[in-house]
Amino acid sequence: MLTSIVGINWGDEGKGRMVDLLSEKQDIVCRYQGGNNAGHTVVNERGKFILNLLPSGILRPEIVNIMGNGMVIDLKHLYNEIGRLVSAGIEITPANLKISDRACITLPYSVIFDRLEEWRLADKAYGSTGRGIAPAYGDKYMKKSIRMGDLFYPEAMKNTLRGLVDYKNLIVKSLYGELLRDEEKARFKLGKDSGDEYYYDQFFKDGLLDFDAIVAWLEKYGGFFKDYVVDTGVYLTDAVANGKRVMFEAQLGALRDIDFGIYPFTSSSSTIASYGPIGAGIPGVRLDYTLGIMKAYSSCVGAGPFTVEMFGDEADALRKAGGEFGAATGRPRRVGAFDVVASKYGCRVQGADEIAFTKLDILSYMDKIPVCVAYDIDGKLTTDFPVGEALNIAKPVYEYLPGWKCDISGCRKVSDLPKEALDYILWCEKAVGCKIRYVSVGAEREAYIDMTE
Ligand code: GDP
Repeated sequence: MLTSIVGINWGDEGKGRMVDLLSEKQDIVCRYQGGNNAGHTVVNERGKFILNLLPSGILRPEIVNIMGNGMVIDLKHLYNEIGRLVSAGIEITPANLKISDRACITLPYSVIFDRLEEWRLADKAYGSTGRGIAPAYGDKYMKKSIRMGDLFYPEAMKNTLRGLVDYKNLIVKSLYGELLRDEEKARFKLGKDSGDEYYYDQFFKDGLLDFDAIVAWLEKYGGFFKDYVVDTGVYLTDAVANGKRVMFEAQLGALRDIDFGIYPFTSSSSTIASYGPIGAGIPGVRLDYTLGIMKAYSSCVGAGPFTVEMFGDEADALRKAGGEFGAATGRPRRVGAFDVVASKYGCRVQGADEIAFTKLDILSYMDKIPVCVAYDIDGKLTTDFPVGEALNIAKPVYEYLPGWKCDISGCRKVSDLPKEALDYILWCEKAVGCKIRYVSVGAEREAYIDMTE
């Protein structure tokens, strides 16, 4: 059985809680895209854990976790992430963590280039997380990467890296030379890495990237991971043939997908379900089941078109009710009404078989609930999610559904729900054309309703 759990919207749909709930029934959990630019917070009886790179099955000792070829991996970040979990008593060994030999490494200069480019762009910056993800994927498609399997052949790896660093230094000189002349600012702009060292001091010499420092970094952290690196395709093919249950776990939502999302305000990788087998190492298999995680209202982190955005008191009330503040930064997230146009599109590109509809309890304070049923683009109504400038200028068309005005966080069966809440669920289900299987009414593991029971 091959299952995929993916986001339907812009992210923060509550994937973490559904993955946590459903991973119990899996043998193998795979991460198939992205890097350490986002992650899940999982709370269980052993504590609170932040997972940026590791698949969430790592918290269950019986599950084998795969980090697939579709990922980009910052070795130092992973080393530290594992270190934090191990010191909290989680066992992580080559038996329960397997890293693809084809995954690309996010190098220190990937992070440096990410931050340099945001610095250069100034007020036109993308709002990158500064973790090197876009440069790492850019290099992958330019065929200028070092991959995990290269760690086994250090001399060949160094030869390749020499050419790459020479190439990168041409760009450093020509594009960023002027900026880097201000050393104090460079130190500040290039920031610290997770190990308390400044990228600038550690990886620059005489104003250029220092080849030896990058080799030393690769040797130090690469050495640790050699026992974890395998051909995940061979491992997974065998597992599937033996009837193992495999789950593909996405980071970020459909609208952040590099092809189908709100480009260029997307992630740099493919977040959609059908990429799961490819990014894990078994492109020939078919998914048996895709569960899309869809939020009962909208939220969006960072820049980019967000048609249903609310402002003022209306936004403050929803943001406060939903706790929509960045986990790390505390920055307020953008919020809005449930968006049928975007969500229907999200269900379609994800190929969702069923939906988990999350955070319904958050809407309990509303007298009437706005839902966006169409976009108005230059006076023409559409329900097809547009692209580019058409999306930028789209205006939302709203309808209003009756609120239920009572606490539903204790509901555990369909019959516990007030009529208006059930009507809202069924209305949204019909609008997006996909069966709502689970409804989540709280962050706790048991705070959900299985609509088939
Ligand atoms: P992810 O990035 O998609 O995994 O989403 P998050 O893990 O950031 O989930 C968003 C937040 O909402 C987390 O703090 C969850 O604990 C919380 N959450 C998830 N589902 C529900 C729900 O149904 N009701 C409430 N009140 N909170 C929820």
